[in-house]
Amino acid sequence: MKARDPIADLRRIAFLLERANEATYRVRAFRSAAKALSALPAAELTERASAGTLTELAGVGDVTARCVAESLAGEEPVYLRRLVATEGSDLDAEATALRTALRGDCHTHSDWSDGGSPIEEMALAAVELGHEYLVLTDHSPRLTVARGLTAARLRRQLDHVEQVNAALPEGFRILTGIEVDILADGSLDQDEELLARLDVVVGSVHSGLNDERAKMTRRMLAAIANPHLDILGHCTGRMVSSRPIGITGPGDRGHRARTRKESDFDADAVFAACAEHDVAVEINSRPERQDPPKRLIRRALEAGCRFAINTDAHAPGQLDWQRFGCERAALCGVPADRVVNTWSAEDLVDWTRKRS
Ligand SMILES: [Zn+2]
Ligand SMILES: [Zn+2]
Repeated sequence: MKARDPIADLRRIAFLLERANEATYRVRAFRSAAKALSALPAAELTERASAGTLTELAGVGDVTARCVAESLAGEEPVYLRRLVATEGSDLDAEATALRTALRGDCHTHSDWSDGGSPIEEMALAAVELGHEYLVLTDHSPRLTVARGLTAARLRRQLDHVEQVNAALPEGFRILTGIEVDILADGSLDQDEELLARLDVVVGSVHSGLNDERAKMTRRMLAAIANPHLDILGHCTGRMVSSRPIGITGPGDRGHRARTRKESDFDADAVFAACAEHDVAVEINSRPERQDPPKRLIRRALEAGCRFAINTDAHAPGQLDWQRFGCERAALCGVPADRVVNTWSAEDLVDWTRKRS
């Protein structure tokens, strides 16, 4: 039988484990093995597989070595086959149509802040999903627990993204961006000049989530009126599940999401302002967030808002969580033409440039 690509199989397994929200250490075993083996000449890989010496390499264990041997023998690794067989249920027709209409993701993190993977790996996973673009939105300086990027680091990241883009397949690109903190007074936590330069600006509240209603409303309205803000991220800040989530990397906070109630704000005023200033309301797909709740998605829809269905992915496999956001959007009757990431990269960037 013709040999399969063992590295691709290992990466596929890692992707499926991430998508299923499995423990980080399990995912890491496959990602590190893929990384270690991709550095190896093809001939040595085959030799070691037949001699049974793959496990002598750092980062390769019994399970990953067995997968490699099976791939090289032309078989789909048993581990992969089981994962595929036990995957989640299908989406209904409307959610599927919405998911199919999406051409990119406007909220993602890399290991430059609190994500677990390099920008390149996030981009490759997005290519595999059929996306045309991925907006990279690492955190802003004040969010120190998530290694928020200072202006200097963000400038370095922009240069790096340019290099990565040059090496990516034609027809796909990483768009530059930020998930900028909405500060206590509603101002945005990054230099004006940088915000103007970025393709997409997502703004989120990460602090003072218990601010009293009037204060929180003022704070959000000020941010929405800022011409640099394009998308309002996870607007209620709620956490609906206490399951551990797969955020890893140097900035790992031993992340365990606790349940958290919604922030209190005047939703009608906030959504009216989003509609007036043409700021898109994010439908955050993370299983532990599911933010905003459906009743607020419906109100934003009635207010005439646009939406962005984003994953807020911190690992490649989480990029496929858009399906969850689509499910909720479809239940609320959100039409595809109200969703900014159904547009091409050009149209999306035209929109954000026109706005700022
Ligand atoms: Zn956030
Ligand atoms: Zn985020």
